[in-house]
Amino acid sequence: MATHRSMPAKPRIFPLITIKFNAFGSSEFLKMALIVQKYGGTSVGSSERIKNVARRVASWHRKGHQLVIVVSAMSGETNRLIALAREIQAQPDPRELDVMVSTGEQVTIALLSMALLEQGLQARSYTGGQVKIVTDSAYTKARIERIDEANIRRDLDEGRIVVVAGFQGIDEAGNITTLGRGGSDTTGVALAAALKADECQIYTDVDGVYTTDPRVVPEARKLDTITFEEMLEMASLGSKVLQIRSVEFAGKYKVKLRVLSSFEDEGEGTLITFEEDKKMEQATISGIAFNRDEAKITILGVPDRPGIAYQILGPVGDANIDIDMIVQNVGHDGLTDFSFTVHRNDYQKTLEILKPVAAHIKAREVQGGDKIAKVSVVGVGMRSHAGIASTAFRTLAEEGINIQMISTSEIKISIVIDEKYMELAVRVLHKAFGLDQQP
Ligand code: ADP
Ligand code: ASP
Ligand code: MG
Repeated sequence: MATHRSMPAKPRIFPLITIKFNAFGSSEFLKMALIVQKYGGTSVGSSERIKNVARRVASWHRKGHQLVIVVSAMSGETNRLIALAREIQAQPDPRELDVMVSTGEQVTIALLSMALLEQGLQARSYTGGQVKIVTDSAYTKARIERIDEANIRRDLDEGRIVVVAGFQGIDEAGNITTLGRGGSDTTGVALAAALKADECQIYTDVDGVYTTDPRVVPEARKLDTITFEEMLEMASLGSKVLQIRSVEFAGKYKVKLRVLSSFEDEGEGTLITFEEDKKMEQATISGIAFNRDEAKITILGVPDRPGIAYQILGPVGDANIDIDMIVQNVGHDGLTDFSFTVHRNDYQKTLEILKPVAAHIKAREVQGGDKIAKVSVVGVGMRSHAGIASTAFRTLAEEGINIQMISTSEIKISIVIDEKYMELAVRVLHKAFGLDQQP
């Protein structure tokens, strides 16, 4: 991001006027804080739920806090709109798709503002373009470049609750853009950074960040805190509880970020922490992430000579396709096999790009498959503990799950397997690392 005119450049020290008894029990909280709250699709999924959100917002307002509320579209709405677009155009034009899918959030900001007005509060809704949340022009995956927060500040100073559409922005030329699936989280955190908010609260349909998706592993445990680094890995490896870019923003601008339930009144959710020294006491592994969003491509019988990886991957990169895992086998008789993964949405396009490339380099065959899943074991404690990888491999072997690809970093191990074993793999790994037990 080049020009964050309104973003703070350095971590801030919060003004500490604490009150003793507050919604977060023992945690220090601020009187007259500026809080950004984001409510996800399920949380605003019906008029009843929108009224519930309004009641929650009203109770925070009554405590004297200034509030900016970011909302997603009603659950299912973004999917419905995308499907509708595909009925007209198999590969919808990205600019027009953004014009369309951004309407989901435009509905919920108006409905929530009405619900707040009904509560006797002053509220005003803003689309991304009205705020101005200025992004680049990469339709369907735009990045926020700056936020003009003057309108919001004026409203807050006049006692209004400001309701902002998540997931959307506007480029310099005035085109509507969207921020990628799950992008309302990023709107929330970016607004919190721009406004120097005291806290950004992400309200969702689970009561915090768990050791893995609690919908897949019922024994998953809620974490009271998770380090920023671990949250970044979990998000980037598929835990959709926070969009990766929202976590990046929180890290860059040191936004105090908390995930909590919009359906429960109790509980402090999960706080993303930046304290490095806490790591020593932490469990070796903090969580298991997974995703089904990738596809694998293998080029067989590639001449094994310098520059070959570049010849294959160069054109893919030039087409703006992100490559995730890469594996090149040991060569035999001057030939080798080369595999990599891309997002499933880019799978067909990648195959088309590679056909002429494979012919040009005289490779034998291009194979592909999108029935794969990536399962990742994440933990900062891995740095100081050996044997994590072997435990993971043994656990999968005992279940007869074949490993297709492996990639590791200091704090994660990712394994590509057949999609049909994904849930089993997540469950057995979760158990093997004792994540169901209190550390
Ligand atoms: P929202 O609509 O509120 O943005 P999402 O569906 O995007 O909600 O994200 C919340 C979901 O993320 C949960 O319902 C849960 O199934 C899933 N999830 C995946 N991994 C995790 C995890 N580690 N902890 C908590 N939830 C997770
Ligand atoms: N409505 C958008 C989506 O479904 C953005 C969001 O919910 O965060 O991806
Ligand atoms: Mg989400």
